[in-house]
Amino acid sequence: HHAKKRETNISPYTQAMRHTLERRQWMTERLHMAILEQRLELYFQPQVDLDTKALTGAEALCRWHDPEWGWVSPGEFIPLAEERGLIRLLGDWVLEEAARQLSAWQAAGTPLPGRLSINISAQQFADPRLTTHIAALTSSVSPSAIAIELTESDFMRDPDQAVIITQAMRQAGYALFIDDFGTGYSSLSYLRRFAADALKIDISFVREMLDNHHDRAIVQTIIAMANTLDMKTLAEGVESAAQAALLAEMGCNQAQGYFFGKPLPADRFAQTWLSR
Ligand code: C2E
Ligand code: MG
Ligand code: MG
Ligand code: MG
Repeated sequence: HHAKKRETNISPYTQAMRHTLERRQWMTERLHMAILEQRLELYFQPQVDLDTKALTGAEALCRWHDPEWGWVSPGEFIPLAEERGLIRLLGDWVLEEAARQLSAWQAAGTPLPGRLSINISAQQFADPRLTTHIAALTSSVSPSAIAIELTESDFMRDPDQAVIITQAMRQAGYALFIDDFGTGYSSLSYLRRFAADALKIDISFVREMLDNHHDRAIVQTIIAMANTLDMKTLAEGVESAAQAALLAEMGCNQAQGYFFGKPLPADRFAQTWLSR
């Protein structure tokens, strides 16, 4: 009588935990299959010059549509891939697919101007042979067509290693963007040694900058720092004309965000942004 009661009386907390763990395990297996079966997709979001509004490049963003679950957010499956040891497999696919798409646009007479930004995770970045690895997976395109994005916090996990790898990457002709800038803890002295091409101003500062003078001051400081270090600035998450105008006035070079264009599948991106 007692044993039976205990058995059926699992606490809601335990049930929720079990449910979460099961979902994550199941999701890991589905994601692994989706990568192996090449069922992930790349979407492309325009990056524009804030003065001329001309296209300066695009960012490749990974998408996963599960037949049963629908769209799963990268905010969920990228950290999962990192945690479960799938990020290198996923990252290799992203690099190959990005290069394939760049070549296809070129062959169609509608090449992407500037560079395609590709996001790299800390675990990929920890590979001392990363530069040659990228070159091998993207051998059909020139390094001058590619920018590698790494978040500021990933840079700061092992700054000395980051300095060595970033120098090798730049020597090989890749550009380097520091993603989500302003949310990590890099010092000016490390920033100087990273020799990045651009700082991507994190969306959180851009979101509040019209109403919050602290955030506006942070954006201005990042732009001033970038100027001092001969780096460009690219604002993330620009959603309004007012934000774009203020950023341009502050001397920010480029922008990305829904105001200019959402991430689109390759064919629709080409129709909208690439012309013969
Ligand atoms: P991220 O690299 O900082 O990418 C920018 C994110 O902001 C994207 O989210 C993009 O869709 C979103 N975004 C762009 N414009 C706007 C806007 O105006 N408003 C708002 N609210 N959001 C905007 P997404 O595609 O969900 O990706 C989230 C994160 O997942 C990325 O942040 C990146 O860290 C990661 N990620 C995506 N694809 C890859 C990939 O292929 N490899 C790796 N390692 N990480 C990836
Ligand atoms: Mg990025
Ligand atoms: Mg970002
Ligand atoms: Mg981000």
